[in-house]
Amino acid sequence: RYVPEDITTLLSMTQPLKLRGFQKWDVFCEAVHNMMANTLLPADGKGVMVALRPVPGIRVEQALTLCRPNRTGDIMTIGGNRLVLFLSFCRVNDLDTALNHIFPLPTGDIFSNRMVWFEDSLISAELVQMRLLSPEMWGKPLPLTQGPNPVLNAEHDGRVWRRIPKPLRLQDDTVERTS
Ligand code: C2E
Ligand code: C2E
Repeated sequence: RYVPEDITTLLSMTQPLKLRGFQKWDVFCEAVHNMMANTLLPADGKGVMVALRPVPGIRVEQALTLCRPNRTGDIMTIGGNRLVLFLSFCRVNDLDTALNHIFPLPTGDIFSNRMVWFEDSLISAELVQMRLLSPEMWGKPLPLTQGPNPVLNAEHDGRVWRRIPKPLRLQDDTVERTS
């Protein structure tokens, strides 16, 4: 008997689009792989993958706490001292715009090195490399990032992140009273 393709198979192929935020290394690779294999999505227009290496003195786990994707379908992972982001449907020319939405600080202050992949074949080739990374090199989020977002003294105004200024007294009362 002819069995039509199960609708749940089609639905599961689009699942990565429902993910957001941190994913374990293997889950990330699987999700991006599924997107690349999804013929319902535009060829070479599925998104941009970017790998970022933190500046010396910042651990990749710390950099991860600053990575706050808002758009469903934007996912990231850490491993081998790199933070890897997949930005769904982002165009490569818009990468900086998207990163400015996602990080509260200029990414140049956090990362010293960036690699970008934006065509299906190039993303798939990088995934082959990523899948070779042994599990002991996979990063684990700091306990902080597993709960709700930590309090951050900054807000997103729709375009960029801005620090929220705090009033600060330069002199306290005891200093004013002396003399
Ligand atoms: P979403 O795609 O999951 O995005 C969640 C939030 O991320 C948005 O909330 C917005 O604050 C931010 N965001 C995502 N992509 C962009 C972007 O390209 N530019 C800017 N400036 N911010 C972005 P928001 O605006 O309340 O939208 C809620 C949901 O409504 C979105 O969820 C999306 O599903 C839909 N949506 C809103 N505007 C658009 C749009 O212009 N195009 C599409 N395709 N969907 C939209
Ligand atoms: P796009 O997805 O074609 O969106 C074009 C413009 O539509 C955005 O310009 C924004 O003004 C509006 N827009 C799209 N989605 C949303 C939404 O969910 N909420 C709101 N409030 N507005 C939305 P914008 O912000 O300058 O972004 C330009 C391009 O940068 C976007 O083109 C997209 O390719 C990329 N981008 C920006 N933010 C994000 C992001 O958070 N995640 C991803 N994956 N891409 C982003």
